[in-house]
Amino acid sequence: MPLVSTRQLLDEAAKGGYGVGAFNVNDMEQIQAIMEAAKETNSPVIIQASRGARAFAQDNYLYHLMLAAAELYPQIPLAMHLDHGNSFETCESAIKLGFTSVMMDGSLKPDGKTPATFEENVAVTKKVVDYAHERGISVEGEIGVLGGIEDGHGAGGSGLDHVTDPDQAVEFAELTGVDSLAIAIGTSHGAYKFTKKPDGSVLKMDLLIAIHKRLPKTHLVMHGSSSVPKDLQDIINQYGGKLKETWGVPVEEIQLGIKNGVRKVNVDTDNRLAITGAIRKVFIESPEKFDPRDYMKPARAAMQKVVAQRMVQFGQAGHAGDYTAISIADMAKGYANGTLVTKPLVGAK
Ligand SMILES: [Zn+2]
Repeated sequence: MPLVSTRQLLDEAAKGGYGVGAFNVNDMEQIQAIMEAAKETNSPVIIQASRGARAFAQDNYLYHLMLAAAELYPQIPLAMHLDHGNSFETCESAIKLGFTSVMMDGSLKPDGKTPATFEENVAVTKKVVDYAHERGISVEGEIGVLGGIEDGHGAGGSGLDHVTDPDQAVEFAELTGVDSLAIAIGTSHGAYKFTKKPDGSVLKMDLLIAIHKRLPKTHLVMHGSSSVPKDLQDIINQYGGKLKETWGVPVEEIQLGIKNGVRKVNVDTDNRLAITGAIRKVFIESPEKFDPRDYMKPARAAMQKVVAQRMVQFGQAGHAGDYTAISIADMAKGYANGTLVTKPLVGAK
C-alpha cells in the first residue's frame, strides 16, 4: 500500500478502540524488524524518524527505505512520521521529502531544549498545520513538556516539571487544529524514566483521563512510553553492559491510556535495548565472529519480537486489513472542505 496518512491510521484506531505503536528508526534493519512484526501480527504501523535519525541516515536513504517497505508489504497500512520537529523549516523539509505526518514540537524553542511560551507554541504549530493540511499531511502537536533528553532533544529534568494543563490543551487544540496531541503526564524520554515502579504520584494517568474527557475528538499521543522491561536490561548487563536499575511505563498503564483516547504510542528505548542486548550476547559468546550479519540478524530478530509484542498489547494486531488507503490528495481535500478539521469547541457548542 502507498504510504498513508497518520491521521487515517489514528481515525481507524479510534473507531476500533486500539492504539498504534510508533516505532523509531535509523537504519534498514530497524525498518525490516518493524515490517516483519507488522506482517506477523497483521498490524497497521507508524514508522517515525527524529532529527537525529535524519542526520544519521540522511533523508534520501530513509525515504527510499520507507518506500521499499511500502512496496514489500502492500497489505500493511504504513505511515511515515517526523518525530519532534523543532521548527517550521524542519517540518517543511520532511513534508517535501514525502513524510505523511509531522510532529511540530513547539513546546520547546527551536534549540530543542528551552521550554517555549504557550503563544510561541500556538504560533509555530498553527503555521505548520496550515502548510501541512493544505498538502494532506497530518500534524501532531505537544502541550506541556516531556522530561529527559534523547538524541539531544528535550528539556531534561523530571517528567513532572511541566505536566499538561487540561485547559491549555483544549485551547491549544482549538487554536491550532492539530490532528493529534502529545501530552506530558510524567513520562520522560530515554531509559531512565522512573526510579521505582511508577504509581499515580509520578505517572499522571488521572490527568490523561481528564484531558481526554475535555478533548474526546483529538487523538492523544504518549511519548516516552517504552516499558524498559527488566529482562531486556538483564541481557545487556549479563553480557558486560552497565545499565543502572530503572523503570519504564508499565504496559497496563499504556493500555489504560488507550481506553482513554491514546491512539499513538511512541516506543524507541525498548527496541534499542533489545538490539544492544542481542549484539552484546554474540560478542561475548562468540568473540571469534566478525561478520556483521552474525550479530545484526539476532539484533533484528530481537527487535521484531519486542515490536510484535507491543502490537498485540496495544491492540493494533489484526487490524491491517480493516481499510484501504485514502490518498494524500484526498486527505488534502478533506481538510479543505472541513470534514477532517478537528476543533474541540466547535463540537461542544
Ligand atoms: Zn517524544
